[in-house]
Amino acid sequence: MARRFDGPRLLVATHNRGKAGEIRALLAPFGIEIVSAADLGLPAPAETGTTFEENATIKALAATRASGLPALADDSGLSVEALGGAPGLYTADWEGPTRDPMVGMRRIHDELAARSIPDTDAARAATFHCVLALAWPDEHLELVHGTLEGRFVWPPRGAGGHGYDPCFQPKGYARTTAELGDDEKNEISHRGRAFRLLVEACFR
Ligand code: IMP
Repeated sequence: MARRFDGPRLLVATHNRGKAGEIRALLAPFGIEIVSAADLGLPAPAETGTTFEENATIKALAATRASGLPALADDSGLSVEALGGAPGLYTADWEGPTRDPMVGMRRIHDELAARSIPDTDAARAATFHCVLALAWPDEHLELVHGTLEGRFVWPPRGAGGHGYDPCFQPKGYARTTAELGDDEKNEISHRGRAFRLLVEACFR
């Protein structure tokens, strides 16, 4: 039986503005007072885990220990099948020191081109992953994992979303996730799916 969140304050433990915005929008209907890691000046811990679950856990526990508040952390990334699942856990690192998603998208494009991977849905299959970890000050943890399947496309298209969205086309869609509205993206996205699992478990 999952533990219920009974508020009133929740720390959203991410320094990534794109993710923080999506999580705030998803939490809006629950009337929870949201505090961000940036508001509290919390440092981002080193992500030394070997799975999305481990990294989300590291971030959520670090944030709850530092703040004394229940903390929600997100670890996410894009796995490209033809690249053996890369960048995966290292999706943010592929954006380089300036954290420029264009740098990461171009690197995926270059690595697919270097391997002569054909420009087809099957050959360029990719999956977005999102693990959400909710940690309480007594270190109780709840974890959920959402995915979104699709393919890597080049060149990038669309001005919405964040990160690698301009190069990701969900299965069954002709648009990239950067060409979907925020609500439409949340309905199908890895983060939206993980969030609905968390709501089912802890917020209802
Ligand atoms: P993390 O902050 O270590 O979890 O890194 C997440 C990485 O995945 C960053 O490079 C993000 O840009 C990327 N990412 C996560 N979620 C999304 C998404 O919804 N759309 C596009 N890129 C995403």
